[in-house]
Amino acid sequence: MLISLKEILAPAQKYGFAVPAFNIANFAMFGGVISVCERTNSPVIIEIHPNELNHIGPYMVKGILEQLVRSPIPACLHLDHGSTFDQVMLAIRLGFTSVMIDGSLLPYWQNVELCTKVAQAAHAVGISVEGELGTIGIAAACDEPGANEIVYTSPQEAVAFVKDAGIDALAVAIGTSHGLYPKDKKPKLRLDLLREIAEVVDIPLVLHGGSNNPDNEIRAAVKIGISKVNIASDIKQAYYQQMRVVLKDDKILEPKKIQMPCIETMCRVVESKLRLLGTLGKADYYR
Ligand SMILES: [Zn+2]
Repeated sequence: MLISLKEILAPAQKYGFAVPAFNIANFAMFGGVISVCERTNSPVIIEIHPNELNHIGPYMVKGILEQLVRSPIPACLHLDHGSTFDQVMLAIRLGFTSVMIDGSLLPYWQNVELCTKVAQAAHAVGISVEGELGTIGIAAACDEPGANEIVYTSPQEAVAFVKDAGIDALAVAIGTSHGLYPKDKKPKLRLDLLREIAEVVDIPLVLHGGSNNPDNEIRAAVKIGISKVNIASDIKQAYYQQMRVVLKDDKILEPKKIQMPCIETMCRVVESKLRLLGTLGKADYYR
């Protein structure tokens, strides 16, 4: 069941759980994620970054959509960190049901202007829009954008931004970073700030850079009001660490024999995230 971000996040916001957005970088990873979500009756957001889209090509998106439309669980296909109007239009043309337009590094009014332009076009064809205010940090070499200095989201500015920009979901900056953290860097979420934002902003809130944070902090963030958590590095790490192990046997050539153990390892992480975010079994809320 293919639905928009607005539709998939409404029950999450109402009943206090979060829907994970998994960045998939190939078809095997997509297949693994969707199989766990179907087996556990959990809603899911399949997320593709523009760089990942360049890598997989537009035709694979058609295959993903075909499977999501036929799937018994609620699912959304979301563009992660679109940075230009053109990127967003391409995603909508390909069939994505939701897009993020990330103007967070722009001055406030330019961010508003970009979001407004995207929201007007996207809403005309029933597509949801996620915007971002404040900046997510960058922890390690990773394809996603980030700032060296985190600018925390101001609750008052967030209220104005949601009204000015006309978006459906808001990514907040409360101290997370994209990528995996080095050993000496301990991420500290500003849960007090999140509480203030959640009290005054009425659209669903999104947590980026959710990989590698302690489980108790993520659980607390969901309880306070995060409805979508982006997960990329944690599943990629599980997949490729296992692949490094498998490929030590240099006689294996069949893709199935190489990929299946890696997917199985990744699937365990996917299921643990669904449990952490309270998503397991929540597909029933959409019927
Ligand atoms: Zn992000």
